[in-house]
Amino acid sequence: MGRFKDIFNGWRAMAQITIASTQHPSLEQQRLHDLSNRIRSGVLFYPVVWAVIGAAMLVKHATPTKLTLVIAIFIVEAFITHLRFRLLERGVEYAEFRQLRQFLFVDAGVALSALTWSSVLLSSLLNTPFEEHYSLIITATLALSSGALINLSIRKETVGLFLTALYGPSILTLLLGLSEQPNGLGLVLLVYCVAMYHLTRLPRREYERAVLSNLKLQDQARQLTELSNNDSLTGLRNRRYFETTLKQECNRASRLEYPISLLIIDIDHFKSVNDEYGHLAGDRCLKHVAMMIQSSLLRSQDTVARIGGEEFAAILPGMDAAAACTLAESLRKSVHDMPFRQESMQRTMSVSIGCCTATLPNEHSPEFLMKRADQALYASKSRGRNCVTCDADLPAAPHSHPTPGTPDAS
Ligand code: GH3
Ligand code: MG
Ligand code: MG
Repeated sequence: MGRFKDIFNGWRAMAQITIASTQHPSLEQQRLHDLSNRIRSGVLFYPVVWAVIGAAMLVKHATPTKLTLVIAIFIVEAFITHLRFRLLERGVEYAEFRQLRQFLFVDAGVALSALTWSSVLLSSLLNTPFEEHYSLIITATLALSSGALINLSIRKETVGLFLTALYGPSILTLLLGLSEQPNGLGLVLLVYCVAMYHLTRLPRREYERAVLSNLKLQDQARQLTELSNNDSLTGLRNRRYFETTLKQECNRASRLEYPISLLIIDIDHFKSVNDEYGHLAGDRCLKHVAMMIQSSLLRSQDTVARIGGEEFAAILPGMDAAAACTLAESLRKSVHDMPFRQESMQRTMSVSIGCCTATLPNEHSPEFLMKRADQALYASKSRGRNCVTCDADLPAAPHSHPTPGTPDAS
């Protein structure tokens, strides 16, 4: 009973892999990519193997007809090899948007080579100059197809197509008694094809398992990177990401000589929200303000982050002082105009904003921007909150508002 259960579980596991393989678009993309690469290395074999067989046949018994046929088939093989490389390139061009079409290009190449070789195999079974070399041609075909199947094994449709195109006509000819060779040979080739088709299942499953676990690892690595860069409460970027980005953006702005602005945004009297409604409501309120800030920044190059408890920052590369002040003002207004609502409570929120713009190359440093934006924020708080201060409005000897890691200017 337990054994039946094992077998059933085995089948179920196999079915799950099949389902997974048909459902995961990335697996199919990877399969397509790997199949194209594998095929590329095998395409050259056809003319090379034919050249060797042709030479062997001619050494044994050369006739003008045979020589002509060997050369003609070699030219056809070389042309098809060239065509297959072209087909693979066309397939890559279509890769971006039509996966099915790329598979068709791959399969068309496989079918072309298999059919050409199939006609050689067939001619060795019929009354042609190659008939006397049929054992050599069959042996070479078996060797060639075994090697090719190792490469093609990762896609069952391609394996089926290859075997059918290569052996189908010869098997039919032999089984129908159209050849002088024994019918049994057709049966042997048929068994070989079925056995090879089944043998490729195991490497194919191993390949799929490896690709799927690799894709899973890539997904997990992506998620980990997201987690380490994002603030779990608000979903905005966190301080770590902010610091790295500010440094990079300052370097780029300095190199390309464009302005860069920084906003530091602090929620006013946030402590009282916690005190009045509780920490949980405070968290929801933080998310609400974070969303308002995020939706006020429309450019993809801007970065908004939560850099402290109820403190946010926005990096605005390429934005001059006037535009940054206007943006800060509209941000302040939108937070004030959209009260935080939760169940029966409603609370108008406000933010104070400090805005700083670096225009000259010697100002393009994270320290400069942080210090000046922080001073501007402190000025906004001193002016009664719910307002914006731009660094141009700061008095000549500004007050400083110490920030961790930022030298105190007072
Ligand atoms: P000000 O206008 O001067 O900025 O006043 P404030 O109350 O906003 O500033 P203060 O620095 O006095 O208090 C900040 C409060 O923010 C204290 C802290 O409990 C709260 N806070 C910080 N992080 C979180 C958080 O993640 N969730 C909640 N609910 N509260 C937080
Ligand atoms: Mg505050
Ligand atoms: Mg604060």
